[in-house]
Amino acid sequence: MTSIHHNLRQTRRRISISARNCERNPEEITLVAVSKNKSVSQIKEAIAEGQTDFGENYVQEAVEKIRTMLDYPGLRWHFIGTLQSNKSRLVAENFDWCHTIDRYQLAQRLHEQRPLHLPPLNVLIQINIDNEETKSGISLDQLNALAEKVMGMPRLCLRGIMAMPRPSGSCRSYTKLADVLINLRSKYPMLDTLSLGMSDDIDEAIAAGSTMLRIGTSIFGARPAHSLSP
Ligand SMILES: *Cc1c(COP(=O)(O)O)cnc(C)c1O
Repeated sequence: MTSIHHNLRQTRRRISISARNCERNPEEITLVAVSKNKSVSQIKEAIAEGQTDFGENYVQEAVEKIRTMLDYPGLRWHFIGTLQSNKSRLVAENFDWCHTIDRYQLAQRLHEQRPLHLPPLNVLIQINIDNEETKSGISLDQLNALAEKVMGMPRLCLRGIMAMPRPSGSCRSYTKLADVLINLRSKYPMLDTLSLGMSDDIDEAIAAGSTMLRIGTSIFGARPAHSLSP
């Protein structure tokens, strides 16, 4: 068994244990394998172990990989990086999900650029939960207005919210996010996704109700230092 096989199994086991510890069903949690800076052959190893959802941060790099794997059915590609408006078309044309909607103009472009032969692009609004200057995402007071606009874009399917709480921050950020989604669902009951949790905060994220974990290092190993999350 290669280390990717082994790591994936370990990660899934960890998710199951963590979910059961807070009386959640592990099956309601999607594992997105973050494959930024990783090769097509490494991704294929994960596919051989049954992995279907992959997260990528860099548009150009991702699109090259996606195009070489078009004959693998059932894969879902998640864009999780900061998205510059001039690269939105490549995301609209090649991805299944975009986790990082943080402004109206970006949503509008993705909506206009999503090809008609594809289903609507699944999107999440990214929230800067700890109001960190270095992180993208909207502040909480802007959420309702942006959600309302995105709901009016039929080529996008708003599924929920995404966040990256401060690594050393308090667990209050996690419970706050859970409340934010509950509030938003009282208006839009179809929202079903909380994209929260990376290799280092799996347990906190699952306890807060995460339905989508974005995990790179625990599956594929460490990345070179310059490529850590943007
Ligand atoms: C890189 C990245 C991850 C994965 O982080 P790990 O610590 O390697 O698990 C998750 N989410 C985002 C937005 C990232 O950029």
